[in-house]
Amino acid sequence: MEQVSLIAAERYERAGVRQAIIELLEPFGGMSSFVTSGERVLLKPNMLSAKEPEQAVTTHPLIVTAVAELVREAGGTVLIGDSPGIGSFTRVAKKTGMYDAAEESGAALVEFTESVELKGSGMFRSIHLARAYYDADKIINLPKLKTHEMMTMTCAVKNLFGAVIGTEKAGWHLKAGCSQELFAQLLLEIYLLKKPVLNIVDAIIAMEGNGPGNGNPVNIGMLIAGANAVAVDTIAGKLAGIPVDLLYIERQAGRMAMAGAQLKDIELFGMQVEAFPLLRVKLPDSLDVRFGLPGFLTKRLKKHLIPHPAADRATCILCGICRDACPPAAIAIQNSALSVDNARCIHCWCCRELCPIGAMKTKKGLLLKAAALFSGKKSP
Ligand code: SF4
Ligand code: SF4
Repeated sequence: MEQVSLIAAERYERAGVRQAIIELLEPFGGMSSFVTSGERVLLKPNMLSAKEPEQAVTTHPLIVTAVAELVREAGGTVLIGDSPGIGSFTRVAKKTGMYDAAEESGAALVEFTESVELKGSGMFRSIHLARAYYDADKIINLPKLKTHEMMTMTCAVKNLFGAVIGTEKAGWHLKAGCSQELFAQLLLEIYLLKKPVLNIVDAIIAMEGNGPGNGNPVNIGMLIAGANAVAVDTIAGKLAGIPVDLLYIERQAGRMAMAGAQLKDIELFGMQVEAFPLLRVKLPDSLDVRFGLPGFLTKRLKKHLIPHPAADRATCILCGICRDACPPAAIAIQNSALSVDNARCIHCWCCRELCPIGAMKTKKGLLLKAAALFSGKKSP
């Protein structure tokens, strides 16, 4: 059985967060079960972009501080590292509070810049990961629980995509194309190349709606931990009330017969599933609605079914960030107007994830609009 621990934690308060993490790790024997004296331990928080902790885009710095302190008390040397999706590492570290977390806990910040080529063990022959990530003796993964426009949810497994350096992320999106299944396979293969010894999820304030960059904070008031990232994500998805059919990474992990992909594989400590709060986080507007339709129909109707990205003219400042990040170069800015080539678009939603002001919206496909009119309901 894969073991996952949960604990209620109502708010971000330094002493309270530290105590909650100590209690969260008790069923496993505490931090010293994961870290041995003298080891270099890399903490991998979510440092997507330069947003304040209250915006719930990034892992809260008090969690990073507490974990760094506990690792140092266990005798480890602590590094805090990531490769932000947008903006300079220093700016992201300062704005998200990681700079202060490092200073207060005696950890070193490390930007992922150099990569190392690794032989893939599955569908992908070669994968480049950040050298600082691969060379660390141990990894402790510190994801934020958020909705995700392409993958429905980002948590422990998806957070490790940050070990792929900057612009190389776009190349992988391009390889996966429109397939969430293929992208999930890639994420799981990245996870298998260098597994964290421990995953601690920040679900005190999570994100719902148009995550991972432009959703809304939602209070879940929980911390989740476990050595198996797949099992931790299975519990995170259940806690957030996300339908299992929409959890692409868990589905793919199930196809790969990975342990922890199903609730029945998991032993819980601290709280049983029956006691989970009855939550159902709001899902992203861009969510694909193909589930339940026969395959031949979805191929033909896809462009009419799924929403497309479209910039809001009134708010878009034509900064070009989305254009530069778009993997298939489907976005153009000409004559003071932004356009999206829907035929090229692979619906990775990087443009919405990285737009600093939330100006990239979704435009419904024709069939979705018609269905909404017909039913009198708002379609997703
Ligand atoms: S949609 Fe956002 S990222 Fe793209 S150009 Fe406009 S403001 Fe910039
Ligand atoms: S337009 Fe947006 S959703 Fe489409 S491929 Fe480019 S970044 Fe991805």
